[in-house]
Amino acid sequence: MCGIVGYISKDGNPNSLRLGVEALKRLEYRGYDSAGFAIWDANKKDIFCQKAVGRINKLEEKINNNSVFDNPVILHTRWATHGGVTDCNAHPHCDCRKNIYLVHNGIIENYKELKEQLIKEGHKFSSETDTEVLSHLVEKFFKGNLEEAVRRALSLVRGTYGIAVISREDPKKIVAARLGSPLLLGLGENEYLIASDPSAVIAHTKKVIYLDDGEIATLTPENFFILKEKKPEEIEWKLEEAQKGGFPHFMLKEIMEEPETIENALRGRLIIEEGRVKLGGLDGIQEKLRKINRLILVACGTASYAARVGEYMLEEYAGIPTEVDTASEFRYRKPIVDKNTAAIFISQSGETADTLAALKEMKQKGILTIGITNVVGSTQARETDAGVYTRSGPEIAVASTKAFLGQLATLAMFAVYLGRQREMALVMGKRIVQELAKLPELAKETLKSAPEIEKLAKNYKDFNNFWFIGRKYNYPIALEGALKLKEISYLHAEGVGAGELKHGPIALIDETFPTVAILPSDSVYEKMVSNIQEVKARRGKVLAIATQGNEDIKKIVDDVIYIPKTLEMLTPILSVIPLHLFAYYTAVLLGHDVDKPRNLAKSVTVE
Ligand code: GLU
Repeated sequence: MCGIVGYISKDGNPNSLRLGVEALKRLEYRGYDSAGFAIWDANKKDIFCQKAVGRINKLEEKINNNSVFDNPVILHTRWATHGGVTDCNAHPHCDCRKNIYLVHNGIIENYKELKEQLIKEGHKFSSETDTEVLSHLVEKFFKGNLEEAVRRALSLVRGTYGIAVISREDPKKIVAARLGSPLLLGLGENEYLIASDPSAVIAHTKKVIYLDDGEIATLTPENFFILKEKKPEEIEWKLEEAQKGGFPHFMLKEIMEEPETIENALRGRLIIEEGRVKLGGLDGIQEKLRKINRLILVACGTASYAARVGEYMLEEYAGIPTEVDTASEFRYRKPIVDKNTAAIFISQSGETADTLAALKEMKQKGILTIGITNVVGSTQARETDAGVYTRSGPEIAVASTKAFLGQLATLAMFAVYLGRQREMALVMGKRIVQELAKLPELAKETLKSAPEIEKLAKNYKDFNNFWFIGRKYNYPIALEGALKLKEISYLHAEGVGAGELKHGPIALIDETFPTVAILPSDSVYEKMVSNIQEVKARRGKVLAIATQGNEDIKKIVDDVIYIPKTLEMLTPILSVIPLHLFAYYTAVLLGHDVDKPRNLAKSVTVE
């Protein structure tokens, strides 16, 4: 997510700000909503800070070219997680004395406790971000040596961070540190850089040192120090690749980020010992939620398939009657709701016009509205009574992949949250929460079949029509698998509940019409096997997604991709990963523009 750049050079360099801004622009592809920098002003012997909402050129417009800027300089593109998208919440953040300036990527999980304590100690906060606690903590420990103060401050912090810090009173250095957010040092000729990824430094140097979690680095004009001795490495990427984090397409990069996306959604929210889930965004409506006896989930496209998985989860584990509506239809229905109904709106961007219109309708009826969205401060996030952010990070490819995983993980947590308010026993809560915590690792394991899926895509790419079939939790995944293939490969694919095949669709099956069947070893496994037999009896080719260890299925189907074992309700979170890869590789083999498929837009802001 978002980006950090820092620059320091041996001889004072009046071009430092320009160089820094250029490097920051190379991180634009990561997605952001505002930008800012802090720079050493050689004339005033002080630090100058500037921020702007929107693109980096909005920030550039604010720069007064007559100032005598030197370095160090630190720069940032923000992708808001805590606090709206405003100039004030943009980074860098400073302390009370305007001595410390800091940029941060990531999330400080214990910021509330830290902030309360710091306020008691007399610190004055000016933003709504989690980040600002870091600048005040560094201030608290600052006795003239910046790296020492940063080290002590970070020892109190929980969460993830990549940070770069400068100080007016210890001005000839940048201190950088990381935990869970990428950060690297670029070692140039008489200059050092710090950046969140290689694309920002590649124009200066190919010699880099990747910081490891827990390391703190100090860059001075002459030298750099890290807690551990490390050998520089050579970057092998080309500039264009670097923009996509080394992947040929954003879509593949985003699929590969799916494990991290699940982890980000879960971070700090699972209370394993109590078999509970903590969703801060619902704190204000906790009591209202206890009285809810009906849920309506409203969304469009991929998000509506996440909603359908959510429907199974919420009915089975929270025991609340739940229905799913596609927003474009829902807005024209006559919804019959009462004060005990709540409506949940799911949208990656939080700007989907159809979903927003449905939300408006529901607000008109005075019922409780809840948002599940990825973008902080989006219209949906502002207009709903309460909500949960999926924290999936920016998604650039038009066809949604990792954001879907964020939505599924959030819905699973939501089911536990509501379930534990009702009849769900501690043991059951614990079981789900424990399994949820394992998902990022299992998703990583699932991704290991990528090369195998690429090979399979070669065998299937020349078919023109596909069925995707599944039942129960994996019925919506069949819909998602088909939609993804349609969106980017332009092949005709339809998702159908496997039990429905015999009620009509089966008429189309012959050797030219293959079926992708999703059948983890779950409560409907046997039924799925029967449905697959029906397809095979009509000479249909079958590609199955099955659970590791299921050797029997190989005897029935043509090809199998295995996923690790997990709880039935969580299988969709793993089974969809091979389908995203299958759609991706098929589209690449057919030579399509996977990141920008024809006729589609990322955020559908029209009706
Ligand atoms: N959590 C911080 C914020 O919302 C940093 C976000 C980022 O990584 O850009 O300001």
